[in-house]
Amino acid sequence: MAEARDEVDIAVIGAGIIGISVAYYLVKSHGVRSIALVDSRDPMSLTSAQSGENYRNWWPHPVMTTFTDHSISLMEEIDRESGGRLNMARGGYALVTRRFRPEDLIADLQRGYGATPGRVRIRENGTSDYRPPRRAPWSEAPDGVDVLLDRDLIRATFPAYAPDVATVIHIRRAGSISAQQLGQFMLEAIRASGGRVVRGEVKAIAKGAPFELEVALEQGTKHLRAGRIVNAAGPFLRDVGAMLGEEVPVKCVYQQKISFQDGEGAVPRDLPFSIDLDDQALAWSDEDRELLAGDPATRHLTETIKGGVHCRPDGPADGTWIKLGWAYNERASDPHGEEPIDPQFPDTVIRGASRLNPRLAAYIGRLPRGAHHYGGYYTMTEENWPLIGRMKTEGAFIAGALSGYGSMSACATGAICAAWVAGSPIPKYARSLSADRYADPALMAQLAAIGNGSL
Ligand SMILES: Cc1cc2nc3c(=O)[nH]c(=O)nc-3n(C[C@H](O)[C@H](O)[C@H](O)COP(=O)(O)OP(=O)(O)OC[C@H]3O[C@@H](n4cnc5c(N)ncnc54)[C@H](O)[C@@H]3O)c2cc1C
Repeated sequence: MAEARDEVDIAVIGAGIIGISVAYYLVKSHGVRSIALVDSRDPMSLTSAQSGENYRNWWPHPVMTTFTDHSISLMEEIDRESGGRLNMARGGYALVTRRFRPEDLIADLQRGYGATPGRVRIRENGTSDYRPPRRAPWSEAPDGVDVLLDRDLIRATFPAYAPDVATVIHIRRAGSISAQQLGQFMLEAIRASGGRVVRGEVKAIAKGAPFELEVALEQGTKHLRAGRIVNAAGPFLRDVGAMLGEEVPVKCVYQQKISFQDGEGAVPRDLPFSIDLDDQALAWSDEDRELLAGDPATRHLTETIKGGVHCRPDGPADGTWIKLGWAYNERASDPHGEEPIDPQFPDTVIRGASRLNPRLAAYIGRLPRGAHHYGGYYTMTEENWPLIGRMKTEGAFIAGALSGYGSMSACATGAICAAWVAGSPIPKYARSLSADRYADPALMAQLAAIGNGSL
């Protein structure tokens, strides 16, 4: 078998949206030319292919709000520059609850969005300047968040929702993108600047200056030397860490989605990405309940399930596809094993989503032919913040643990990690997105108190 030797300044391990974005900003902002993206799979084909492609700047902590705002601004820049290739839509996120005036959520909004006046707008009786969601260029959409407490306004704006909805929190800098197009656009720019993609699996890394990566190619083994390396291996961050003798503190939690053609027109085409925040117990017949409760694998379906079931129209205004998801799984899995796809999931998510969108109940037990059921890993830290920065090994960096928000934050992740690699200044807010935060007990205590919600 042939053995080739090769050398680059920087090797990025992983060509998902995160590795690609790191390489893109190294090329674009730091003039790097000698760079290889190493991946055993096609670019963008693992977790990055499963993304719901939603984005939002809604977070309970201002660092994450700043992080995603930064990323959205970079996406908007690319969308402009590429003549709209990202298909950015900005109908917003609608967070829905049956609780009237949920003070805890309003406090979260105020903490997350900071003190800027007018960013959180409470809409009570008879407010007329609320702008309902519509399909329009993202540049025309408002910013901030509207908290709708007026039931008449809610009924008039969101007639598809169940009548018991009491509050809608409408996040305005939010919507959908084509993350695949984002990845393609970046790959083209990387290649045009002399960067390349090496199709192979990194099996071992010999530390040193340079590093020596053992890469298993289809046709043999390659030894790739690299001055600096970036671990962007998605669900396999720990494996690459172990090759350097380091422990990466992440776990992998499998989450699923379904999409299908909504022949019943249950979901209006201008509906924002809608999330039912309330926990719920699914309605079952007595017979079904007994059957499900009797099996340890399905008992959880008869218990209260945490809020977060979501739904949105997918594709063009005149299309019919919709997407549904519910990240209720909390059990970590081994990403080397078989994917823990749950055959019950489509039925569960339809039942759950029909509580908010009652017309979806038409699909209970009647999932349309051609429906897709798919999933992937949320690779996440305990506190659900990413890892972007230096590893312990000199010359090694990490960009990952982007959980369920990696498409929307890929651009900022790439820009920040590229700055670390190039030795350039890091935006102040971004220091705590690196492993440095573990040395800050006050911040870690604050994050533990906020909780690690993953939608
Ligand atoms: C069901 C689901 C829905 C989601 N919805 C959204 C959403 O709506 N919005 C959003 O912003 N985010 C969403 N996400 C999250 C987003 O998809 C991820 O955060 C993002 O894709 C992670 O990208 P990545 O590049 O880190 O990982 P990946 O895409 O998994 O890429 C990692 C790559 O590393 C390669 N690799 C690993 N080890 C090696 C090795 N040893 N040698 C060579 N190559 C290696 C793998 O082959 C892989 O291609 C969702 C995720 C899931 C699972």
